[in-house]
Amino acid sequence: MARPSLTLDTDKLVAAGFVGPGRLEEIRRVAEEFAVALTADVAALIDPADPADPIAAQFIPSAAELLTRPDDRPDPIGDERWSPVPGIVHRHADRVLLKPILLCPVYCRFCFRREVVGKSPAMMTREALASAIDYVRDHSAVWEVIVTGGDPFLLAPRRLAEIVRALDQIPHLGVIRFHTRVPIADPGRVDPELVEALAAEKAVYVVVHANHPRELTPSARAAVTRLSRAGIPLLSQTVLLRGVNDDAAVLEALFRGLVAMRVKPYYLHHADLARGTAHFRTGIAAGQRLVRSLRGHISGLCQPTYVLDIPGGYGKVPIAPCAVSPHGTSCEWIVEDPAGAQHIYPRDPKG
Ligand code: SF4
Repeated sequence: MARPSLTLDTDKLVAAGFVGPGRLEEIRRVAEEFAVALTADVAALIDPADPADPIAAQFIPSAAELLTRPDDRPDPIGDERWSPVPGIVHRHADRVLLKPILLCPVYCRFCFRREVVGKSPAMMTREALASAIDYVRDHSAVWEVIVTGGDPFLLAPRRLAEIVRALDQIPHLGVIRFHTRVPIADPGRVDPELVEALAAEKAVYVVVHANHPRELTPSARAAVTRLSRAGIPLLSQTVLLRGVNDDAAVLEALFRGLVAMRVKPYYLHHADLARGTAHFRTGIAAGQRLVRSLRGHISGLCQPTYVLDIPGGYGKVPIAPCAVSPHGTSCEWIVEDPAGAQHIYPRDPKG
């Protein structure tokens, strides 16, 4: 039986001291547009006395979400355009997204799928899920299935195991990858039953979403350890967020903390153009400055790829500053070291 998440409605956010009573009406209006939920684990991390608390900023609704900018989009990364059957996004030939559930343990205020998560219909029917898996079976170029949502770790372990078993039997698949916030937001849910549900002959990877070093609690570490002890490789994804982690020291502590938990930082996402999230977005130049400041300063193990999902569904591209550029017309290269000094690298060999 799946554990229920602690969902705090707007009145409870006020009662818990996360929102002043004067803001109740404003957050009610936000909650009419976008889902709101916290878990007890995340609520315990919030300092209600700090108006700039980086955990509160991620999960407590604010009136800024009611502002729509001209650049905002309902489907910022263009999933819809690439969805041939319900629950599948097939943007690149060798991989698909499978979205069996659109519920999350917490609802991030910057979420790129905020128009659909936490809303009805939240779960794929058995028939629709079977059709989605048939789609994967029928497309032999698909090598990887990324099970995402919502959060697939909210599925009952029995249901999760059925999905893993079905995918495990598709000969042309090499990798089953899960994207989840659960090890951070509701670590107790990563219990032996859930870990067992992920057992497969094929490689199963888990990508954990974490944005601030304070999220790496002893419980989160224990959850991640239960997965790594089962032989599951772990990666992370982080969204670069103004007022949460747009600071080199915060990113350094987060990435070092993840690596020390055996989680390899994989992606640092530039925040997407989701409706009502402009207050979270840094500029690309600011993101590049942050990434450049980490280069050479912290171990390469701690450095994710800084990426942007091109609006409209054109895919993800790396956007970190490039350390190499052509040297005039000499066919040589200029290479910049981590301290900013430039060096000449010889021209490319003929042919
Ligand atoms: S956990 Fe992921 S899908 Fe769910 S609200 Fe947060 S960013 Fe969106």
